[in-house]
Amino acid sequence: MVFQDKFQLRIPGPTPIPPSVQQAMSRPMIGHRSKECSAIIRQCSEDLGHIFGTNQTSLILSSSGTSALEAAVINVLSPGDEALVVTTGVFGERFAKIVDRYQMTCHRLEVEWGKACDPEQLIQALRQHPTVKAVFFTYCETSTGVLNPIHTLAQTVHEHSDALVIVDGVSCIGAVPCQMDDWGIDILVTGSQKAFMLPPGLAMVAVSEQAWKRIANNPSPRFYLDLLSYREKMEQETTPFTPAVSLLFGLQEVLHLLAEEGMEAVIRRHQLLKEMTRAGIRALGLELMTSDEDASPTVTSILGGGDEWSSEALRKELSAIGVIVAGGQQHLKGKIFRIGHMGYCDPLDICTILSSLEVSLHKIGRPVSLGQGVQAAQEVWIHA
Ligand SMILES: *Cc1c(COP(=O)(O)O)cnc(C)c1O
Repeated sequence: MVFQDKFQLRIPGPTPIPPSVQQAMSRPMIGHRSKECSAIIRQCSEDLGHIFGTNQTSLILSSSGTSALEAAVINVLSPGDEALVVTTGVFGERFAKIVDRYQMTCHRLEVEWGKACDPEQLIQALRQHPTVKAVFFTYCETSTGVLNPIHTLAQTVHEHSDALVIVDGVSCIGAVPCQMDDWGIDILVTGSQKAFMLPPGLAMVAVSEQAWKRIANNPSPRFYLDLLSYREKMEQETTPFTPAVSLLFGLQEVLHLLAEEGMEAVIRRHQLLKEMTRAGIRALGLELMTSDEDASPTVTSILGGGDEWSSEALRKELSAIGVIVAGGQQHLKGKIFRIGHMGYCDPLDICTILSSLEVSLHKIGRPVSLGQGVQAAQEVWIHA
């Protein structure tokens, strides 16, 4: 890398920050109980509702995405309650760990990594565990690049049980369709450092009427993550504790950018980025981890070359020319690499990644026909 600050951060979070957002975050500090701060909080909450597809109040926590996962678990469940956790990778497993840690009874529906949850599997699991109080899903499973069919899965839960539907949308909300109210999602959580184009540090949550009832009647203790206190304070256009004010400046600008482009266009852009990436990867003779149908518009997983070439060696070469992609997590370590293409990312960025992949494949002794990946992506681009 020649210039220290010139690189392409293409991991599935944190993601690059648009300059106008960076600039907004450098505004002078203001009081967190000031009228000005309240106006920002109210505006952000309102705009988040459009992205979530809900008329419920959107809440903002100053903490990383996992705090919102934990908040969802401890606000609706008490120790001893039964929950079904659908695990399609690392982040589904994280929900299960939280449920276990708080001594709730955790039933896991383990889906093969790299595949989306099939509604038929879900129906069977619901029949097997008819008394679960909540079902936990990961919308985009970041560790494999799978987008679970949340709309269908949420409907399936409501058709077969009274359980609440809780969705981790950290690595895709702001880039994919979401109609929380219409789809029957009871708690939706997301975070700042993925499709929201912000630094890490904010978690956003919305809660359905049904789930609020459950939360109000849940006697288990909670303090920083008590969602009732966030709702109560949001009615007064503020937060229970000092929010990350600079991130709120940034969030306001992000929501402005998303509104300006229009959510439909944002969603189409991410679909295009996915299709360009997949076409390019295939043209280079590399193997994708997920099917076209199950693949997420925000992150693409590519299989390593087994004994023939190493995805870790490839990542090292990419990083040397300023392109940062992610490796695999847990048992996928060294077996796959992942390209994040969410948020501040456009078609030209995909061409750059593919071009750098071609060069790096050469460097690790796995020559490809130069331009082939880029060309396949360009074909998709011009026909979009
Ligand atoms: C990144 C991510 C999280 C949250 O991680 P934090 O490190 O706590 O911000 C949760 N779920 C998914 C699916 C993620 O991709």
